[in-house]
Amino acid sequence: MTLEQAAHIDLHMHSTASDGRLAPQDVMALCHQRGLTCAALTDHDTIDGVEAAAGEARTLGMTLVPGVELSTRWQGVGIHVVALWHGQAQAPMTALLEHLAHARHERALEIARRLEKVGLDHALERAREQNPDARLLGRPDFARALVDAGLVPDMARAFKRYLGAGKTGDVKVHWPTLEETLESIHKAGGVAIVAHPLRYGLTRRRLGLLLDEFSELGGEGAELISGYQNDDRSRDLASLLAKRRLYASLGSDFHYQGGALAPGTLSAVPRSQLVPIWQHPRLVPAFARP
Ligand code: AMP
Ligand code: MN
Ligand code: MN
Ligand code: MN
Repeated sequence: MTLEQAAHIDLHMHSTASDGRLAPQDVMALCHQRGLTCAALTDHDTIDGVEAAAGEARTLGMTLVPGVELSTRWQGVGIHVVALWHGQAQAPMTALLEHLAHARHERALEIARRLEKVGLDHALERAREQNPDARLLGRPDFARALVDAGLVPDMARAFKRYLGAGKTGDVKVHWPTLEETLESIHKAGGVAIVAHPLRYGLTRRRLGLLLDEFSELGGEGAELISGYQNDDRSRDLASLLAKRRLYASLGSDFHYQGGALAPGTLSAVPRSQLVPIWQHPRLVPAFARP
């Protein structure tokens, strides 16, 4: 299947294993309902939902590719890397995930300290209250706590004022570097994909530098399309990827129903010579029909 025909594929979605709102099984059921034949569950820094999603996918006759969206840092920017692989998660991947769980905990303590300074008393406890399943804490838990405490009217404002890129609650020091992350992914037999390259607010020049370094480190691909994208920017991104011979991936970054994005909601894929990530030799068996 070519990239332009890829209407039945979504390789970036979240479940209740991280900050999504549907259980992994329900994400798969929704994918099936929407006519998808192939999906990857890519929760933040955890694969806890993958087994349940895979079981449901088997029942529905769909292909579930195991994956995760990893938090990394590069030049002071938090960069997300989607890893996909075939079969069971290998030891270097599980070691990285353990490290990330610890990093997420330490980061939550630091975010809490900083939000207390701007008036959110008992910030950690309040964030935990937003997270009854005791998942790893994330910025959305703190955002909801800020809304609940009346410090901001809604989630969007919580990110805009306190948690978004460059704000006091945007803490990245605990994340492994891009280099460390790619090394673990490769040792585990996976492929590495830059998530939503257009969402970091990088200038075109710095985005080019990121993609240069990513491919020099052996990174395999990048998301050509992430949810809704401006067609001109998609075309330009395609040329940035082609220049570095990166494989192209596609994903909605679905988190919950009722939002702008549903599984399989993708903007138009521009014409290009890019090779789809499902043709990467290490992933071909993962994408085989069940
Ligand atoms: P974390 O993984 O803890 O750094 O949290 C990042 C997550 O916060 C993203 O994956 C989104 O799900 C969510 N997020 C980021 N920006 C916003 C925003 N402006 N409004 C709502 N949620 C956001
Ligand atoms: Mn998220
Ligand atoms: Mn992301
Ligand atoms: Mn995501």
